[in-house]
Amino acid sequence: MGSAPLIVVALGGNALLRKGQRGTVEEQWETVSHAANQLARIARDGVRLVLTHGNGPQVGMILEAFEQLPRDKPRPTLDVATAMTQGWLGYMIAHSIERALGWERRAVAIVSRVIVSRDDPAFKNPTKFIGSYYTEEEARRLMREKGWIMKPDPRRGWRRVVPSPEPRHIIEYERIREAAERGYIVVAVGGGGIPVDENLDPVEAVVDKDLASSLLARQIGADKLVILTDVPGVAINYGKPGEKWLREVSAGDLLKLYEEGHFPPGSMGPKVLAAIRFTIETGRPSAIGLLEEAYEVYKGDKGTQVLP
Ligand code: ADP
Ligand code: MG
Repeated sequence: MGSAPLIVVALGGNALLRKGQRGTVEEQWETVSHAANQLARIARDGVRLVLTHGNGPQVGMILEAFEQLPRDKPRPTLDVATAMTQGWLGYMIAHSIERALGWERRAVAIVSRVIVSRDDPAFKNPTKFIGSYYTEEEARRLMREKGWIMKPDPRRGWRRVVPSPEPRHIIEYERIREAAERGYIVVAVGGGGIPVDENLDPVEAVVDKDLASSLLARQIGADKLVILTDVPGVAINYGKPGEKWLREVSAGDLLKLYEEGHFPPGSMGPKVLAAIRFTIETGRPSAIGLLEEAYEVYKGDKGTQVLP
């Protein structure tokens, strides 16, 4: 196993909870099993596998549930809510991939922290929407009472925004690499990791899971970074006339397109940046594609392949 290629696969939120699902436990098992069946096809190639995942809907569910409690009941901070989702989804993903592989390989979920800088400009300009939607009046009260920063979400209503700082260092990277080298399928940096500052004090922020996955892939010396989502790859003029899906693109050309503003922040932007950073820094390929084509995306036959 030691010399088998090491692949990092990032799973989008839709791989864990599909749009329109309420999020019952049965629905979650069904959706995660579906993802695990796709990932099992990669694992059967004999590679070492590290899986990362988003947690947007799940963090929303946790925060919303706590909001229902009487006001005097304690609530988790954001780092604790992210840790909860790492346990919750780590359990479901590890269990589902073991099952998909006929219980012949072992998986392990590692609670993972990520260092961010207190000087990150993101702290002056929080942009990441989290949790429930409120009316403007409720939002103004919450800003007063809780000190939250809230902004109107372009989709509907007002929501809390939190900083989304750059990931600097995944604390558990050696443990993650060692577990993968021993042949465990590792689930790590769920939800982008639990953010802590340079002094290892917890931080109220959310790190982008694609950027954290890219950093992890570089720190553990992965051979390829594969980002799976609900579209078949990266398009220019996405959803507009002249839409063109990119099949193979050099990291340098993709960086030019990124800088020209082709990819929106919060969705395709961070995936593209994650792939560019991995491939430019390591000289190794990365790919972005559909969960249902996981094996082909990993093999280089489908999705957008980002080449050195
Ligand atoms: P995930 O949960 O997998 O992280 P996101 O919703 O964050 O997924 O990002 C994937 C979404 O990005 C797609 O569903 C698509 O609608 C959107 N998207 C925006 N711009 C592009 C683009 N240029 N090419 C492909 N998809 C894009
Ligand atoms: Mg996303």
